Amino acid sequence: MSAFVRVIIDRSIRRELDYSVPEAMIGKVVVGSRVRVPFRDKTLLATVVATLEESPAEGIKPVAALLGEKPVLSATLIELARWMANYYCCPVETVMRSLLPQVIRKAEVGWKKQLFVSPARSATADEIEKLRKRAPRQAELLQAIAQLTGPIAAADLLRQTSLDNGTLRALVKRGFAELREQAVARDPHGTEEFIADADLSMNEEQTAALKLIEHALANPETHPPILLHGVTGSGKTEVYLQAIRATLARGKTAIVLVPEISLTPQTVERFKSRFASQPDMVAVLHSHLSEGERHDEWHKLHAGRARIVIGARSAVFAPLENVGLIVVDEEHETSYKQEEAPRYHARDVAVVRGKMEKCVVLLGTATPSLESYHNAERGKYVLSQLTQRVDQCQMPLIRIVDLRMERRKEKAAAILSEKLRTAIADRLEKKEQTILFLNRRGFSTSLLCSSCGKARECPNCSVALTFHRHDARLSCHLCGHSAAVPKRCPECREDALIYAGFGTEKVEANVAAIFPKAVVRRMDADSMTRKDAYREALHAFRSGKIDILVGTQMIAKGLHFPNVTLVGIINADLALHLPDFRAGERTFQLLTQVAGRAGRGEAPGEVFVQTYTPFSPSIQFARHHDFAGYFQQELEFRERCDFPPFRHVVLITVRSEHETRASFSAETLARRLREALPEEFQLGAPAPAPLEKLQGHYRFHILLRGEAIVRLSRLIRETLDKLPFPDDVAVAVDVDPYQLL
Ligand SMILES: [Zn+2]
Ligand SMILES: [Zn+2]
Repeated sequence: MSAFVRVIIDRSIRRELDYSVPEAMIGKVVVGSRVRVPFRDKTLLATVVATLEESPAEGIKPVAALLGEKPVLSATLIELARWMANYYCCPVETVMRSLLPQVIRKAEVGWKKQLFVSPARSATADEIEKLRKRAPRQAELLQAIAQLTGPIAAADLLRQTSLDNGTLRALVKRGFAELREQAVARDPHGTEEFIADADLSMNEEQTAALKLIEHALANPETHPPILLHGVTGSGKTEVYLQAIRATLARGKTAIVLVPEISLTPQTVERFKSRFASQPDMVAVLHSHLSEGERHDEWHKLHAGRARIVIGARSAVFAPLENVGLIVVDEEHETSYKQEEAPRYHARDVAVVRGKMEKCVVLLGTATPSLESYHNAERGKYVLSQLTQRVDQCQMPLIRIVDLRMERRKEKAAAILSEKLRTAIADRLEKKEQTILFLNRRGFSTSLLCSSCGKARECPNCSVALTFHRHDARLSCHLCGHSAAVPKRCPECREDALIYAGFGTEKVEANVAAIFPKAVVRRMDADSMTRKDAYREALHAFRSGKIDILVGTQMIAKGLHFPNVTLVGIINADLALHLPDFRAGERTFQLLTQVAGRAGRGEAPGEVFVQTYTPFSPSIQFARHHDFAGYFQQELEFRERCDFPPFRHVVLITVRSEHETRASFSAETLARRLREALPEEFQLGAPAPAPLEKLQGHYRFHILLRGEAIVRLSRLIRETLDKLPFPDDVAVAVDVDPYQLL
């Protein structure tokens, strides 16, 4: 029996602490348990990471309390946390915070309890007769209770019978009914009904993919991760579903990661319906759950009642045991990367967890990331391909519209080119639907002065403010700063302000003006603020009540609308000109994904890509649906420039409200790193970030590159630990960054 435990407290002290275990808790406090421990003059929450026979520490204090009976973290998840801390150059305490949802960590929310009614002693004919005369309402309720087949929530029974609580209490007093308190799950999908559906029949390619997965399930210890590269509409989800069924059949559990934005009601429904014959089989974890719902869904998994979890990024830490399969859908999605500490990438963590759990990892996508495809090429992953759309649907025809020519024709560039306008009119006539995509919110993207040339900038960030017509204000998309529209230019006092650039709001207005009879709807972060707005809009679009849907990436992913035959990409150049080595990759992915929304039904799809750079490789390869060609040329570029997947990149951001302190600290840090790092690591000179000012902070970047990433992380951590930064300077280390601005 262990008399001591080592814990990680819920606060970054970068040290693990030992405590003794009081007699009454011996055997109950185990690895993964949550406990309260005395720390300085406080009592803090902590997680047990090891049990010890003895401890070298002095002045050991006892554990104050044990929370819950079953440990909340498995030994594997604790091991995963340590790996993440080392890899992502981040305190293990910070990682632990991500592993457990706050509602579980704090352990303040419990189950929701409700009163349930069930019949008790049955009444004699005489008693019923008496009751009818003296208390007819009680008699009526008694009759309803007698017909029950199982316990029912008291509130539901009273609602159904329109009787009151007093009547029920009287029956309980007479001994005809029983009331019992019972925990009820706050199920985020509790009000929906899921009808069990059967497996769909699969084509040859899908069957081959499933066979490969089944083979991996039989040899999980040795099988490398599988990269399922399937074109849009090739039926990847069906492969996932049948792979999960095969996993369950082996008595194992499954984790499915989906980008938050694709975790639509439609997606959840597909998984829930497939496994509807076993209630509670599928749990859902995403950021829109209430605290109570998250508590209940998490515990369903923890208790082993739910054996499948579908969720966003953090579901990679789902408390499932005996994991057989981890699916990462849309593995290329950048939203798998967490942009605050711990800055982990859920796909990469999934691969590592898979290795630790000895389970199968399945990465699916229509546009593999360079990293994953490169891994498949050199045999670290096994590649499985779906080249055909299901039901013989054709890949959409992609047409490029050269905006330079359009501009010459019409002088002022229109938002919709003539070709796109004609195509929309044609779809309206045929009662088919159109999606218009623009990756930029708002009405006008800047307010310029035509006299002095200055744009209205955010006072906290180095970006122009966006004009939103619905509230007639200027707002910053980075920090949320909002300002009134000035009458004159505040710089030169001239009455010469003009609106320039456009976002989704203006596209919507423009389309509505050109096609006054069409029903146009906009879907972006501004128009979808209500909880149900997204669901409603999708439903309206699916049922044909909307002709033209205008939106941001919110509509780019995974949606399946058979009646959409036209997709217009308003400006394909937006991502291309960002100072980011992944700009080309993102553009290719976005074009392919958005184009993939067209022609998912019987009618073929057509896509118009409006661009000022029609010959850029990302656009040309996307046009020809040529992933392999695109991959080869992009890979050559990455190799030439020493970028991933050939080198790991680490981005260090030093920021402060005082520009000189930020730059001075960055210089000092770079100097120390230069001294500490062996030559195999490349270190760039510190430079102002492309986004120099953000939320009132001046930012400087240091970019490092190298192959042995864990070693590099350790050296950075050691260097940072030795440097005393002033309090008003913050340093963030991002390993494998996706945000380079
Ligand atoms: Zn001016
Ligand atoms: Zn701002």
